[in-house]
Amino acid sequence: MNIILLGPPGAGKGTQAHRLVDHYGIRQLSTGDMLRAAVKAGTPVGQQAKAIMDRGELVSDDIVSALIDAELAAMPKDTGAIFDGYPRTRAQAEELDSLLAKHGRKLDRVIELQVDEEALVDRITGRFTCAECGEGYHDRHKPTSVDGVCDKCGSTEFKRRPDDNEETVRHRMQVYRSETAPILPYYEEQGLVSRVDGMASIGDVADSIDALLDA
Ligand code: ADP
Ligand code: ADP
Ligand code: ZN
Repeated sequence: MNIILLGPPGAGKGTQAHRLVDHYGIRQLSTGDMLRAAVKAGTPVGQQAKAIMDRGELVSDDIVSALIDAELAAMPKDTGAIFDGYPRTRAQAEELDSLLAKHGRKLDRVIELQVDEEALVDRITGRFTCAECGEGYHDRHKPTSVDGVCDKCGSTEFKRRPDDNEETVRHRMQVYRSETAPILPYYEEQGLVSRVDGMASIGDVADSIDALLDA
């Protein structure tokens, strides 16, 4: 199973991808997570990407495609992949096709999470994650059960992303509209796109995705 989760920043891609990993035993390939890890480790890629990410612009197609290539090369062929935040441009979509072919895979489905832009700023500015296990939370929509303690691993350390502020989010939405949304027709021509109402609750969105994948 090879699936793309597509949607603007805050649509719920990471939240749903995380759950699919647990549910179907597939791997989440998030270029955002990979880039943040590179920034943290201070690698050359990270040093190049940091300022671009802080501005909410796109890192070069070559960099992100190389990250995906390396991950696919290191994965067993029969382990499914869920692409979260990649591809984000037409060039990346075409590159992904070659990478999938190179690694003996094919794309099964593109799931578009449809959301109102107005909800996105609220989702992004309330977003935080566990510093230990990466579980995603939201100040109001998905708080921890016990204040200040991760439900999953019990850690008391959390983090917020430097690019999750209103100004950068508005810019990231524009970039999504101009660079990323135009890849939908590419996949529509191939009959691969399914749409899910991303404004529903986290649990209901998960149920809709399961229904699509089990069909
Ligand atoms: P993306 O990966 O698409 O940028 P996330 O999965 O990180 O988005 O979700 C952004 C924020 O919104 C997180 O804080 C998450 O807990 C919250 N969230 C995700 N899905 C929903 C939903 N269906 N309803 C309300 N809040 C949600
Ligand atoms: P979100 O899901 O909230 O939009 P991501 O974690 O996917 O955020 O991405 C964070 C930032 O990392 C993006 O704003 C961009 O700068 C960079 N990035 C992530 N994935 C890509 C990609 N496929 N192509 C170019 N830049 C990317
Ligand atoms: Zn945790």
